[in-house]
Amino acid sequence: MLSLAGCQVLIQASSATIPAYVMQCSYLRGRILDGIDRVNRNFLWGSSESLKKIHWIGWHKVTKLKEEGGLGLQTAKGRNLALLAKLNWRFHTEGDVPWMQVLRKKYCLGRRLNATNPTSLPCSSLWAAMKKGMGTFEKGSRWLLNKGPLRSLIQGPLSREANKLEVKDFMKDTGWDWNGLSVELPLDIQMLIKATPIAMTSRGCDKITWADSPQGTFNLKSAYRIAMGHEEVPKFSASWLWKANTLPRIKTFIWMCAHNSIGVRSCLMRRGVCAEAMCPICQEAEESILHALRDCPWAKAIELLDWLSRNGNKRSTSVTLKPPWEILFLFTVWNIWKSRNNFFFQRKRLNQQLHMEVLKQSYEFLHCIASPRVMTQRCVKRIRWEKLPDGWMKLNTDGSVIGSKGVAGCGGVIRDDGGNWISGFTKRIGITNSFMAEVGLKGGAVVDVFSNAQYVNNVISPILYDCRLLSTRFSQIQFHHCYCEGN
Ligand SMILES: [Zn+2]
Repeated sequence: MLSLAGCQVLIQASSATIPAYVMQCSYLRGRILDGIDRVNRNFLWGSSESLKKIHWIGWHKVTKLKEEGGLGLQTAKGRNLALLAKLNWRFHTEGDVPWMQVLRKKYCLGRRLNATNPTSLPCSSLWAAMKKGMGTFEKGSRWLLNKGPLRSLIQGPLSREANKLEVKDFMKDTGWDWNGLSVELPLDIQMLIKATPIAMTSRGCDKITWADSPQGTFNLKSAYRIAMGHEEVPKFSASWLWKANTLPRIKTFIWMCAHNSIGVRSCLMRRGVCAEAMCPICQEAEESILHALRDCPWAKAIELLDWLSRNGNKRSTSVTLKPPWEILFLFTVWNIWKSRNNFFFQRKRLNQQLHMEVLKQSYEFLHCIASPRVMTQRCVKRIRWEKLPDGWMKLNTDGSVIGSKGVAGCGGVIRDDGGNWISGFTKRIGITNSFMAEVGLKGGAVVDVFSNAQYVNNVISPILYDCRLLSTRFSQIQFHHCYCEGN
């Protein structure tokens, strides 16, 4: 018998990935996609054709990301669309390989594009599959520099002239100029365009980038999110559990508790499986999850705190050898639950020595599985503006962004060797993502990027070219990272 955690790993490792090979270049029929989902769903909860079991948590929740309250599994449809978006990405980025030349000559020439209804013309299954993935691809990709059509940024009606315009049409030598457009652009689109990094010098290296990826390259996970229409969802309040120091099967158990779905009577009643809500052990209160794990007199009999101090203190004097509270607690919850189930289904007597069992398991886990904690020593460091050698000047810059995708700004101050003000600047950058804020604006990474000439990043390369070029105009220049308190 596999636990829920075991089934989850098996699905991720085998049954969800087997169809991926076919999905890379064809769009499967809806019936097949549903069938794949059904097989995975049934396997996860232990159902089969003949034996139906309760699916405690809905498939739409299971297929969310772990931080959003799911198990991180993927639906077949979303995965198929994401893989086809990848095919589109390769079509746009891989240069002139033969398969692309064939497709381009066949489907991207003028006569076909100018036909009255180009989407309904007959085409190969590969091209049909690519068209399926195109929506996801277009939502996820951004043209870097100034080549992309304005259409790609705007949803909703545009006038015929505006439809033909490209983003570059709004760029003048002095900056962006919106006067050429008959309609007023929404502020957020203006901000998005404003935040696109543009090189002053090396024009002509137009590139397409993947919006949500740090390197600007294709990212299957983010493509899946886009294909499934994921919006920013509130963070799952119990997402700490995936980082908890315990066994995977206990994690999935806590995950089910967090969704208020385990086999206690109050949950069974909601599903119409059971008519009686009273706790069958004590007959005193409704059997809710909290009752079963904490408030039931039998669970209380374990006297958590009491046995913890009695057993925890006498073993050894070394602090690191004792299981910490977070490990003990989760093992306790798990064992109470297991012991209740044994009582119901296997008619075993309630284990009065449960605390010893918990302690044994925790010790085993601590010494065999958990990685020993390395004690880190903290040292206090004084951070301040450092004085310079004679004749040097220092430019301190920093930037920040509101939220993970929001309005960003940056600024800087130039001072001489004595710390006297020489000049300063501030700038509104527009709307950019947190990556641009982190690497484009925040200190540490920038220094690494400068010192590594081989570094390639589609998103920030225009800025990088300019910075490298400008830095050659100084006779001596050094880049250092400092904490923002030292600015
Ligand atoms: Zn009870």
